[in-house]
This record gives sequence, C-alpha cells and structure tokens, in this order.
Amino acid sequence: MEKFLKPVEHAVAAEKFISDEARTNWHDETLWFVRAKRDKIVHKLPEWESLRELGSQIKNHALSNLDTYLLAFEKNAQANGVKVHWAADAKEHNEIILEIARKNNVKKIVKSKSMLTEECHLNPFLISKGIEVVDTDLGERIVQFRNEPPSHIVLPAIHLKKQDVSDTFHEHLHTEKGNNDPQYLTEAARQHLRNKFIEADLSITGVNFAVAETGGFVVCTNEGNADMGAHAAKIHIACMGFEKIIPKAEHLSVFLRLLTRSATGQPITTYSSHFHRPRKGQEMHIVIVDNGRSKQLGREDFRNSLKCIRCAACFNTCPVYRRSGGHSYHNATAGPIGSILNPNINMRENADLPFASTLCGSCTNVCPVKINIHEQLWKWRQVLTEEGYASSGKTAGMKGMAFVLSYPKVFRFAGKAGRWIIRMFPGLVNNTLNPWYKQREMPVAPKHSFRDWYIKNKKA
Ligand code: SF4
Repeated sequence: MEKFLKPVEHAVAAEKFISDEARTNWHDETLWFVRAKRDKIVHKLPEWESLRELGSQIKNHALSNLDTYLLAFEKNAQANGVKVHWAADAKEHNEIILEIARKNNVKKIVKSKSMLTEECHLNPFLISKGIEVVDTDLGERIVQFRNEPPSHIVLPAIHLKKQDVSDTFHEHLHTEKGNNDPQYLTEAARQHLRNKFIEADLSITGVNFAVAETGGFVVCTNEGNADMGAHAAKIHIACMGFEKIIPKAEHLSVFLRLLTRSATGQPITTYSSHFHRPRKGQEMHIVIVDNGRSKQLGREDFRNSLKCIRCAACFNTCPVYRRSGGHSYHNATAGPIGSILNPNINMRENADLPFASTLCGSCTNVCPVKINIHEQLWKWRQVLTEEGYASSGKTAGMKGMAFVLSYPKVFRFAGKAGRWIIRMFPGLVNNTLNPWYKQREMPVAPKHSFRDWYIKNKKA
C-alpha cells in the first residue's frame, strides 16, 4: 500500500480535495450523518456522562501504572501460551513480523484493520520482502486496490463513492462495468476475500483492548474479518500500541459501550472477539509497540492523547476534517486526534496539523474518554512555534500582531490605516493572494472603529 512519502501542507492538500465541490459536500454530509447517529444513541443512555468519566479515569489510571499493567499482561499472556514481543519503534515492529513470517515460510498474509500497522507502514515493508499482504476489511481492501492509504480510521474508504468502488472492482475483480449496486459489489468482494482467507498462512489483527488481569485481548470489527483470519490461519499475530492496556476484564464493558456508540452510533460492535490463547496447533504472538508513545507520555500537556480508543467521533464532528478529507492530514491517523499524535512522532513533518482546526471544541465534546483535544491542538501550536517549526509567514504574522496588540496607540493607528487602505484600494484585499478572499466576500471597511462609535455614543 502506498505510504505518505512526501508530506504536503494540510491546506494545500485540502485545496485539492475541495476542488471537487460535489464530493466535498457529500463527504461532509455523510460524516455528519454518522455524528448525528452518535448523538441519538448516546442520548438514550442516561448514564452516558458517568460512563465517559469512568472510561477517562480507567485510562488515566492505566497510563499512570503502565509498567505494572504491561508486565502483568505479558506474564499472563505467556502463561496462556502466547509469545509476547516488544518493539521500540516501527522498524522493530516490522522486523519482528518479518522474522515470524520467514521462520514459518509464510508467503501470504491476511490482515484485519489495524491502524498501528498503517502507522508502521507494515504492508509496503512486507510486500517489498516478497510477501503478499491482503487487507480484509472491505473499505481497506478498496483503498489497497487503489494504492491509497485509508482516509478515516473507522471508515477507511469514506472519501470514495459507489461509482469509484465499482470502477475499482471492475479493474481488479473484473466485475461488470458500471454496475454500482452495493450488494453486487459486496458479494464480489466477499468471494474474493474468502479465497484469500483460505490461502493465508498467517493472520494479523489489531488490538482494541488488552486486559492485564487475564493476558487476553479484544478485537472489534463489524465484518467479522479478524475472526475469519485468526481462525483460519496457522499463525495469529496481534499488534498493539502499549496504550491499549486496561487493568481488568470488568472494565471492558465500559469501553465496549463507549466505543461503537461514539464510532458509528451502534449499541455494540457486531463482532467483539475475545482472544486468550492459541488453539491446538496454532501459534499466537502479540507485538507490543512503543513508536513514540513513551515520549508522548512524558509530555505533560499531551499525555491525555494516549487515552484515545480510536472511535473517530472527533473526525466525524470536525468541520475541518469533514471538508478537507483524511488524506490531507498525510498520516495514518488523520483528524483532530491525528493532529495531536503525529507532531509527537515528527514535529517538522507534521507542524501544519495542529493548525488544521477551528478550535471550536466539538471534538472535545464528543470524545468518549474526555480527551481535551482542542486544548492540546492549541498547546501544540505554541510548542511548534516556540520550537521554530511553524511556517515563517505565520511566525512573522504572529510577531507583527503581538507588536500591534501590545501598544494601544499602534493598534488604533493600524486600525485606522487599515480601514482607509481597504476603502481606497479594495483590490489589495480582494485578490486571490489573500487566502480569506478565496471562499468569501471581504466586508466593506467602516469609516470609524467600534471604539470611536462607543466613545461618541456613550458621551451622547
Ligand atoms: S480522541 Fe476521543 S473522539 Fe477522537 S478517536 Fe480518540 S477516543 Fe475517539
């Protein structure tokens, strides 16, 4: 699968997406529909707010005692017959999987949706070593055929319409040209994937929740593809970021209730599969990955972001995500939470992301584990600017603004001069070099400021 080789500025990439106005409107409305479904279902639960609080506290507690819980998880998983591996970064994660595959002479792998493997660019790595990797989630398979990364963590092909899928399947699965009946297309994908499941020697899944107390883990899918893969193949490898740990099995009910309601507005995920030990004759491995997470844990202002359970509610509600599309975030995890997690991995390449937000706070309002998302985006802007990663234009503009706002006389003079220039030479602001002008009419500048008006009327 193609990885984001060359990061593009979010605004530049978004401009490309927005140029197809009909698609942008459709994308916006579709995701808003999912957000509205989430609202309806959570309002049916009187205990929703206490559930969120509980989820937040459990995650907080787990993050504060990570060493204890991760070691307990390892011990219990090993006692269950599972092989546990630790990976410091994406490279180690990929090498561990390659080694297991080579040791077992594996040529074909099926994978169920795992954003961690996307983050580590596992597919291109394995493919470059001569191993076939097939994504089995329908949306992921569609984007894999198109050599595109997923654009959403829960709905990976949400940027595509039925006709796009029909064209893609016609090219790769030889379905009837122009037939975009969803049932017909789904059936074609089902037949195609069934063979892949049967042929695969190894299955990779993600992990939604890993339980320290039992050494077991839970994988949630709506298509049952993780179960198909894990049950058919001789080897099952589960890949998890270390923040997926929760202390006890009884905590699962809290997160399973929060997750799908927030993600798709369903009361429960169709398949919430619990894995504990390999079946007879099967090998089961778990790869626990850091890849920058401990660094984020050490950043006090951003530590909370590790509570994320990847429901994507913050994506669906974000006015910027809905109108710019997931690919404009040039990382596996897009949207508001991606804009917090990605600068941690690489500040230079992801310095644009925290600015891709209106800071309206809608993300924070819907987050099921109460992450202060918009505050962290605002904090990142400060850190990135202080560290010298913000664009030079923005930094110079902010410095200029700070100077003007620091001196009342300068502020009044600048306002007066600005109003006069805009009235006399409107072309200076009404031109396409001004990003604000691109989508809106600039207002006509008044002759007097509000301050002048206020002083005059107060006296009168
Ligand atoms: S930050 Fe919150 S709302 Fe966004 S994906 Fe994570 S858990 Fe869901």
